[in-house]
Amino acid sequence: MSILNADLHCHSVVSDGTLTPEALAQRAAANGVELWSLTDHDEVGGQHRALAAAREQGMKYLTGTEISVTFAGQTVHIVGLGFDADDTALREGLAATRGGRGERAQEMSQQLAQVGIPGAYEGALKYVGNPELISRTHFARFLVEAGVCRDTPEVFRRYLTDGKPGFVPHRWAKLADAVRWITEAGGIAVIAHPARYNFSANEEYALFSEFKAHGGRGVEVVTGSHSAAEYVKYAETAREFGLAASRGSDFHSPDESHMDLGKLPWLPGQLTPVWELLADRIQ
Ligand code: AMP
Ligand code: MN
Ligand code: MN
Ligand code: MN
Repeated sequence: MSILNADLHCHSVVSDGTLTPEALAQRAAANGVELWSLTDHDEVGGQHRALAAAREQGMKYLTGTEISVTFAGQTVHIVGLGFDADDTALREGLAATRGGRGERAQEMSQQLAQVGIPGAYEGALKYVGNPELISRTHFARFLVEAGVCRDTPEVFRRYLTDGKPGFVPHRWAKLADAVRWITEAGGIAVIAHPARYNFSANEEYALFSEFKAHGGRGVEVVTGSHSAAEYVKYAETAREFGLAASRGSDFHSPDESHMDLGKLPWLPGQLTPVWELLADRIQ
């Protein structure tokens, strides 16, 4: 059944969102979400709070995370859903993935200082809720506060992305490892917002086929990062690769996100929704 208001992708202060898990749950329920997942980057530290908050709001819940992966020289995000949040191997893998963020942030700050923006590390830290998870989003918020840019999309156009000041290449987890951590913890792996990557057709084909070969089961079709044309394109890709389809806003903040929790179009018909594969993992 695709007509279920499922929102299976968003971020709290445990990664780079601005709301607590409790405030997100409240907002999701107010927007009509029936099945919710909090998918903080490289982190499951908010899962117990999110489950408790979902129960309080009368929503069903799936555990979630969004793992940073390096594939063909680019960063790809793999969402994990419905795993055991206390699984040791998953927690260790995520901790290792978070590991390089502090040093990377120091290097980003040094690059920004060289183009006349001092104090970015300290500035970004003010926005960080989890000391192990300093991200580019926190730098973007500081650059807006400092008056360097008008909003966070402008920051990412002018800074922090490949070829721009403040971009520090980083090696994240391997695709095979991320899929395995999720799968062996009882969950399913989902390719996040595939239209957001700058892959050639061959590279994208390789991503989908290797993901399948490693045991990946789903792809985000309806997400805040896709246009209506991209819903159609990735619905077709899901069918071609025999993947289930996911739906999630990727909500980060009331001030920054254009797609609010639960306010998404339905999944296109004739796709298997990921929650059908996870019926026994819904809490
Ligand atoms: P990081 O994991 O530190 O590389 O930061 C990645 C995060 O930056 C993403 O999860 C988004 O929240 C944010 N981000 C990346 N690119 C953009 C963009 N073009 N506009 C707005 N936010 C972005
Ligand atoms: Mn983010
Ligand atoms: Mn992402
Ligand atoms: Mn996300």
